[in-house]
Amino acid sequence: MSAAERAEIAELRETVCALHAELVRNHLVAWTSGNVSARVPGADLLVIKPSGVSYDDLTPASMVVCDLDGKPVSDGSGGSAGAGGSGGSRGSAGLSPSSDTATHAYIYRHMPEVGGVVHTHSTYATAWAARGEAIPCVITAMADEFGGEIPVGPFALIGGDEIGRGVVATLAGHRSPAVLMRSHGVFTIGGTGRDAVKAAVMCEDVARTVHLARAFGEPAPLPADAVDKLHARYKNYYGQRYP
Ligand SMILES: [Zn+2]
Repeated sequence: MSAAERAEIAELRETVCALHAELVRNHLVAWTSGNVSARVPGADLLVIKPSGVSYDDLTPASMVVCDLDGKPVSDGSGGSAGAGGSGGSRGSAGLSPSSDTATHAYIYRHMPEVGGVVHTHSTYATAWAARGEAIPCVITAMADEFGGEIPVGPFALIGGDEIGRGVVATLAGHRSPAVLMRSHGVFTIGGTGRDAVKAAVMCEDVARTVHLARAFGEPAPLPADAVDKLHARYKNYYGQRYP
């Protein structure tokens, strides 16, 4: 591993650790569920949360570096991975990666444009997933961020590539950076970890709003041309532009 890669990873350990605090701050997670990962630019590596560690106890050093098959690797920041006594299933601080690592790794392998992945069981979005119902695009905030409905992916069991395959099959060619995996929860993607966290926050926000709207009537879908215009404007003109 080059010095540049090690420096990149050190920075991503800080970033990915801090992004987990955003999941808590935005009430997207309970206990230790939920996870954020980021791809290491220019390397076939990712940085992800350790499995089963309390959010309060997460530190940059406890983040786990894995290859794109989901296997922990050493980045020279302490301890041993692969070599040494860990048996190759633990990261530098001796921690195992998130049980969702195989899914994150599958997404990075098959979607080269993705630099960040988030998984949560956030309440309102997961309620839609439990019904297997896509969130219809009935408010402008959805057109902005998601460019249409938030789709439902297939039911899949954790453990292999099955969830990753479902996420990629649903999101490939779709404008939405979020998918509701049936009877499970939310996966979001982004150019960076921060983008994926933002999509997870926005997904829960619109899931809640549309749920409340639906409780008292049938909200009208936005016209397709309005969705297109809103999405294009948001992607191209919204926010601060820096030269
Ligand atoms: Zn899950």
